[in-house]
Amino acid sequence: MSINRDILIEKLKDEEFIWDIMVIGGGATGLGIALDAVTRGYKVLVVEQSDFAKGTSSRSTKLVHGGVRYLAQGDVALVREASKERGLLWKNAPHLVKNQTFIIPVYSWLDKIKYGIGLKMYDWIAGRLSLGASLLISRKETARALPEVTTKGLKGGVKYHDGQFDDSRLAINLAQTIIEQGGSAINYMKVVSLLKEAGKISGATVQDEESGNRFLVHARAVVNATGVFVDGILKMDDPAARNSVVASQGIHLVFDKALYSSEHALMIPKTSDGRVLFAVPWHREVVVGTTDTLVGEPLLEPQALEEEVDFILNTASQYLTKKITRRDVKSMYVGLRPLAAPQEGSQKTKEISRSHKILHSGSYLFTVIGGKWTTFRKMGQDLVDHIEKVLNWPRTSSISKSFKIHGYQQQVDWKDPLYFYGSDAEAIRKKLADKNDWLSERLRIYRGQVHWAVQYEMARTVEDFLARRTRALFLDAEESMRLAPEVAALMAAPLGKDKAWEEEQVTAFNTIAEKYRL
Ligand SMILES: Cc1cc2nc3c(=O)[nH]c(=O)nc-3n(C[C@H](O)[C@H](O)[C@H](O)COP(=O)(O)OP(=O)(O)OC[C@H]3O[C@@H](n4cnc5c(N)ncnc54)[C@H](O)[C@@H]3O)c2cc1C
Repeated sequence: MSINRDILIEKLKDEEFIWDIMVIGGGATGLGIALDAVTRGYKVLVVEQSDFAKGTSSRSTKLVHGGVRYLAQGDVALVREASKERGLLWKNAPHLVKNQTFIIPVYSWLDKIKYGIGLKMYDWIAGRLSLGASLLISRKETARALPEVTTKGLKGGVKYHDGQFDDSRLAINLAQTIIEQGGSAINYMKVVSLLKEAGKISGATVQDEESGNRFLVHARAVVNATGVFVDGILKMDDPAARNSVVASQGIHLVFDKALYSSEHALMIPKTSDGRVLFAVPWHREVVVGTTDTLVGEPLLEPQALEEEVDFILNTASQYLTKKITRRDVKSMYVGLRPLAAPQEGSQKTKEISRSHKILHSGSYLFTVIGGKWTTFRKMGQDLVDHIEKVLNWPRTSSISKSFKIHGYQQQVDWKDPLYFYGSDAEAIRKKLADKNDWLSERLRIYRGQVHWAVQYEMARTVEDFLARRTRALFLDAEESMRLAPEVAALMAAPLGKDKAWEEEQVTAFNTIAEKYRL
């Protein structure tokens, strides 16, 4: 189904229309809420100030996981919930979620026993939705499976399974699903103020970030799902509202797969700052991260700190036979975790719970904070249940647990350059001029994907295409800059834009892409 942003906006012009639920924020949380609500039959609108998943939701470690780390912290309830959601997402979006083996190389017998038992518990908690049993492997087998990992002092390994996915592709597929189910999801539409009637929130004023036009949108319930930006919306409701979120920054470095040839992901359970470090194969490259640094003012394009880059390079180099350097980095991306601020006491972010919290203000602005990509659906279900309860709406049942997401396809050839389109891949393939019509042969992106992204996936800018419809910017920042002028030219005609727009787009893209280069 082709998606026309102008048609979606037409509906906003009807100021008499009353939505059931208006969701502010088109990241994992907002899209999860809208999915759950629209599939229950509610009239749902999602507005995103930038592009879908522009914020944290395109910058994750790409894991759909129970969270081995949370198990170590004793948060069994969170691991149980996340393991269940991991299994459900694997069933509902099999074209995007891959069963990934992970190996923990161990350098002491005690660690081998400790992690072996811990991961058996991890399997057991997941129960029926486990992706496969964990097992202890020998030194020889570990060395063979992880050829670039140092064998000095190696005692063996622990192998286990978790999910691996493409975050922004899932966000796009969710937006498509919401629209197909009769809802609306509009990018570049920013909430600038909230509407109130008799002290109760009744909608919001939104601004089209492309045209500057403003619309009054009315809704029976308004949800603030803006991640690290929730406090800005809470203050539109009540300027005296206390801050409810702290932002913790995590960076990832992306390396050429030649540096780490294994098909298994590497998991280092305890780094020098007590965190875990992952090296995860992703789209023919490898993603290594992450860090955990409290930051102040949240930004849509946060900046990595030098010490974070050094930390990842040094920690990864300790475990690899070859020292990795800045020159090896193809791309670097930074995300901000929206963590529920502790009421009082410790500010150490790794101690702040990763589970989600739902709040509502006296004027009935609903807010979700915290959570993970993995649990986005459950957060949506909990929030819609909460709205029904608080606003005394008739109770409905959630059906998102078994709802197939746009692109659903069971048989996946992970080597196919178009695999992440799932059931759309065939239609795209038919539109390609020929199967060698590469926009980038290195990143295996076809020219035909640009037109598809504009017509069917609401790509509005060069960055939308290179960062979130394809993952070029995240995989190889320099290559993505090389592609930008051609992408701008290919997008201009279907979007009805001129040469000046193309030039502006390339300049804007390059400014952002510079941040992804080391
Ligand atoms: C480094 C890192 C690694 C992670 N790795 C994983 C992982 O491997 N697996 C996992 O499950 N989870 C992971 N997470 C957690 C997960 O990515 C986040 O929990 C999730 O993406 C948060 O989504 P969100 O929708 O709440 O926030 P966001 O994605 O930030 O979305 C909020 C949106 O609200 C929009 N917005 C703000 N103000 C307005 C306004 N006024 N009007 C309209 N829109 C507005 C923003 O533009 C933004 O797009 C990771 C997080 C980080 C930081």
